[in-house]
Amino acid sequence: MNLDRRQLIKTAGSIALITGLSRSPLFAAPLGANPFMLGVAAGDPWPDGFVIWTRLAPRPLDEHGGMPAVRVPVLWEVAEDEGFSRVVRKGEAVALPELAHSVHVEVEGLQPHRPYWYRFTVAGSDISPVGMARTAPARDAMVQQLRIGVAGCQHYEMGYYDAWRHLAAEPDLDLVFHYGDYIYEGAATPLGPRPNKWTPVRQHVGGEIYSIDDYRRRYAQYKSDPNLQAAHAACAFAVSFDDHEIDNNWASDFDQDGTSPEIFALRRYAALQAWYEHMPVRKAQFPTNGGLTAYRRLDYGRLMRMHVLDTRSYRADQPCGDDFRKNPCPPEAHVGPSVLGGAQESWLDQGLGGAGTTWNLLAQQIIVMPVDFREPGATEAQFATDLWDGYRPARQRLIESIRRHDLSNVVIATGDHHRHLVGSVPENDEDTDGPKVAVEFQAASISSEGNGKGEAGLDHMMRNNPHFDLYTDRRGYQLFNISPERWKTDVKVMDQIETPGGQISTLASFFVTPDAPILHRG
Ligand code: FE
Ligand code: CA
Repeated sequence: MNLDRRQLIKTAGSIALITGLSRSPLFAAPLGANPFMLGVAAGDPWPDGFVIWTRLAPRPLDEHGGMPAVRVPVLWEVAEDEGFSRVVRKGEAVALPELAHSVHVEVEGLQPHRPYWYRFTVAGSDISPVGMARTAPARDAMVQQLRIGVAGCQHYEMGYYDAWRHLAAEPDLDLVFHYGDYIYEGAATPLGPRPNKWTPVRQHVGGEIYSIDDYRRRYAQYKSDPNLQAAHAACAFAVSFDDHEIDNNWASDFDQDGTSPEIFALRRYAALQAWYEHMPVRKAQFPTNGGLTAYRRLDYGRLMRMHVLDTRSYRADQPCGDDFRKNPCPPEAHVGPSVLGGAQESWLDQGLGGAGTTWNLLAQQIIVMPVDFREPGATEAQFATDLWDGYRPARQRLIESIRRHDLSNVVIATGDHHRHLVGSVPENDEDTDGPKVAVEFQAASISSEGNGKGEAGLDHMMRNNPHFDLYTDRRGYQLFNISPERWKTDVKVMDQIETPGGQISTLASFFVTPDAPILHRG
């Protein structure tokens, strides 16, 4: 292609963009149906604000959520009271068809560490549900108490979301960390009992999802759930993604099916754009050419610095294949160089070094501590290659970073594995009973894998992993109660999730003090 022709195409492109805009007038008529069927959300608080989010979708499962292909002005308000008698900030945003009519507003000018209420209005007639969110404390504030919920892995077909309803009702929540698997990408599972397989309790629509409209429709269906909407309306979230937002156990340019990286990249880009469109995240997480930057920090005064990590986008492909328990990966294969990638790894190292906070929270996805999955009676250890265990040199560098900064206050939040697991990260992989470098709280799934088996048949996991304090196959979430003196984690479990109305209870609590990464029951 010669230069003149390229110039011509560029010019034509920009003309098309301008006329495209002029042909897409602002649409102020009522939409004929409630456009707020996906609820509202807030996220990523900072001391004078947070993100507020909604997406206009009057018929969530229809093409384009039932929206006409026009730009729609959306008014937003933030108030100091639930009745909106003291509105302190308001403005107008435009919902664009390019972004599935999602709206992201970075609200500013609020007071630190206090609750606010927010809502949206379209065409003067349709008013959204009201959401609540707390701003973060001022950067130099001595914070006495923070409460953070941790949850994720919400397979729509495997259970009801009552755990979200219970989390929404927890008092004084500052934040929810969602570790990912917000959606699952697989095809709808046939309803009814299936021999030797799990039985779906409800069905998500369509085949396996590949296109951006597929991903949008999947998010729309999951976000139609009233319990999930209640959780978002109750508290700001800090969201990350794991594998199923795109494809099971993907790693940077590689999916699990051997698709060529150029083709998988198109799917990943579509999926990440849809993720952005449905999550209450900042402009810093806006999709750019080929992906988006999900790793970021949230500071809560002098009490806690939260490092939200992305353990999927930059990692090396799983060593000796993506295997789980079937065949042990020989030690010499554990040379996959990176989980975080070079840039994120040095960003984390700098952030750990400069924190100066009482606590450091690594909010991430996959299990950091070594896990020996060997079956009862097996003589050889078995490790899962999709976890940090598959990237041992990278884990060693993380441990060295924590030690180099002389930190005894590192707490790791983890998801992915669908079980509650409480334990600590040993300094030395081969000495799991030896000195520890951090504590790790892996929160069970909201619904993935159904009711689970409890502790039945899992004794060997505790026996073979002396650095475990708790391991159970139940659904639920965890609650972090953080103060300057101690960090207490409540392990919350559902009695059942396969019919609506399940109840929550506290299975166990653990605490740790900032001077030593040692877990105590309490
Ligand atoms: Fe999951
Ligand atoms: Ca996962």
